[in-house]
Amino acid sequence: MKRILVTGGAGFVGSHLCETLLDKGNEVICLDNYFTGKKKKIIHLLENPYFELIRHDVTQPFFIEVDQIYNLACPASPIHYQYNPIKTIKTSVMGAINMLGLAKRIKAKILQASTSEVYGDPDIHPQTEDYWGRVNPIGIRSCYDEGKRCAESLFVNYHHQNDVKIKIIRIFNTYGPKMEPDDGRVVSNFIMQALQNQDITIFGDGQQTRSFQYVSDLVDGMIRMMQTPDDFTGPVNIGNPGEFTMLELASEIINITGSKSKIIHLPLPEDDPTQRQPDISLAKEKLDGWEPKIPLREGLTKTIEYFDRLIKEEDL
Ligand code: NAD
Ligand code: UDP
Repeated sequence: MKRILVTGGAGFVGSHLCETLLDKGNEVICLDNYFTGKKKKIIHLLENPYFELIRHDVTQPFFIEVDQIYNLACPASPIHYQYNPIKTIKTSVMGAINMLGLAKRIKAKILQASTSEVYGDPDIHPQTEDYWGRVNPIGIRSCYDEGKRCAESLFVNYHHQNDVKIKIIRIFNTYGPKMEPDDGRVVSNFIMQALQNQDITIFGDGQQTRSFQYVSDLVDGMIRMMQTPDDFTGPVNIGNPGEFTMLELASEIINITGSKSKIIHLPLPEDDPTQRQPDISLAKEKLDGWEPKIPLREGLTKTIEYFDRLIKEEDL
């Protein structure tokens, strides 16, 4: 049994990670300031004596004794990270400094939830870890992209300068149950719209692509990454290489739900990347046989069932 800190543990990915780590027999401390996270995602875990929930903001120092830290605290949806961009940068940068300082003092292993956004609007395809990216440092997404890039730099420098045991994963678009209905990301938006027969809002012409990973595949990859030998720090891409246009995603969701929704086109947000697909060769090689198991249609079906239940139970 390990004692594990999960920052951002009341969020979409964090709540699944806390649950899986507990199922594997660990003690889990979930830290969150509830900016985009919700207590209701993890409240059922409080029955487990090996689970603790702490309200805290990672921009402030935090003291605890643990074996491992998963650093997930940071809003991930563009509408949320652009709401208070300075706070988003502080969360990534000061959060990384505080958690790395903690890891250094207590000699814990620490994993950073970085993102495919570090590649920006990429001019190589698919993206490999040695690609440096094409990010607009002064654009509306930069609070998130550059914050995460700076966090990666802090992680490697704490590793080289202070021997902190680090792991960096670059997560590609992930979806699944426990996303918030008003999260603003494309999968939850399209599913909520389809289930309520509302217009499906495609930004731009819908030809931009993303590669969508089901959340259980991500959690599996994160835990395997934490278990790799200390000399493997990453960064490593964790995603599902199945690549789809937003038009294809919309029609798949309309098809599964049998919705009467129409597709409408809204303006494309500034700096919206045109394509995104992970090269996962490194993950397959280093993460003990990891590869994504859940294809898009199966993952969408499970996610649609989840949102359908929320709507029927008026639990929105
Ligand atoms: P989310 O918004 O659901 O979860 C983020 C969590 O962090 C929330 O619970 C939020 O309240 C918490 N948080 C935010 N600021 C905080 C602060 N200052 N102090 C403490 N807690 C804070 O997003 P998610 O999809 O679960 O993403 C989790 C992590 O994975 C993020 O770091 C995100 O950048 C990364 N990531 C996610 C995706 C994805 O597609 N889901 C893709 C790439 C990277
Ligand atoms: N998108 C869309 N309609 C929506 C929400 C998003 O067409 O209602 C598009 C968005 O412009 C982007 C893609 O879907 O091209 C993925 O957006 P999301 O916010 O989910 O993730 P990110 O852009 O960070 O990859």
